Amino acid sequence: MAHAHSLRVVFLGSGSSGNAAAITDGTTTVLVDCGFSAREVAQRLSTANISPRSVCAVLVTHEHVDHVRGVGVFARRHATQCAVLATAGTRSRAALDTGAMCVEVVRAGKPTRVGTLDVLPFSTSHDAAEPVGFRIDSCGSAIGIATDTGVLTDEAAEALQGVDILCLESNHDVGMLEHGPYPAFLKRRIRSHAGHLSNADAADALSRLASDRLVAVFALHRSRTNNTAELAAAALRVRAQELGLGVPIVVASQHGVCDSHPPQGSLFPEAATRE
Ligand SMILES: [Zn+2]
Ligand SMILES: [Zn+2]
Repeated sequence: MAHAHSLRVVFLGSGSSGNAAAITDGTTTVLVDCGFSAREVAQRLSTANISPRSVCAVLVTHEHVDHVRGVGVFARRHATQCAVLATAGTRSRAALDTGAMCVEVVRAGKPTRVGTLDVLPFSTSHDAAEPVGFRIDSCGSAIGIATDTGVLTDEAAEALQGVDILCLESNHDVGMLEHGPYPAFLKRRIRSHAGHLSNADAADALSRLASDRLVAVFALHRSRTNNTAELAAAALRVRAQELGLGVPIVVASQHGVCDSHPPQGSLFPEAATRE
């Protein structure tokens, strides 16, 4: 089956225990984050029929361990020429530079090219040294990933305009977080501008970023304590309906692989027909 959009994203896992996504246009394959062990990432790639050896770069969003756990070993073990791209702040805080691995420094707002992919890092708002999200373009289609961010920054909103596949953090339901077991300081941190997007925040982000090009929305980094897949999907589905968007909403899971070709794991395959 032919797809109007040539870029494919596979979430290998998403959540506080580990994050990694593979993005490919069929020619160039990159990872965004490598937050599981290298072995685990390789196994999950194989599940999605992607060879770990085809990965030519790991793009790192920030230094938290659920995003960088396997970067070093993966880059050394599974690819002969696997680059690691990170901001200077992420590189130093995560101690990514070792003798065996060289990090290419990227900067928010400065586009770069990886094989056949155009990569645009953009600033996110998170309690990390120099966190970024990524927009990736190839052959007229685009994927945007914004996770681990307390707010959708104006820069992110600008970078993510007109993407075909929109991947937004839907970390928590505000009510579940407030009434849940987390200590007060942690609740404050999660809800702060340097924390994580809630389901409602993700819905508001969808309003800012919706366009005729949109073909799928992925919800990322769902908390197992302070959210459910149903709540995360419902918030985006309701907003999509209000916007007249007939796009699948897919909640990425911590343990399973989630593919854009076709969207799998979708709770609500058709949110609405266009009015
Ligand atoms: Zn995280
Ligand atoms: Zn983080």
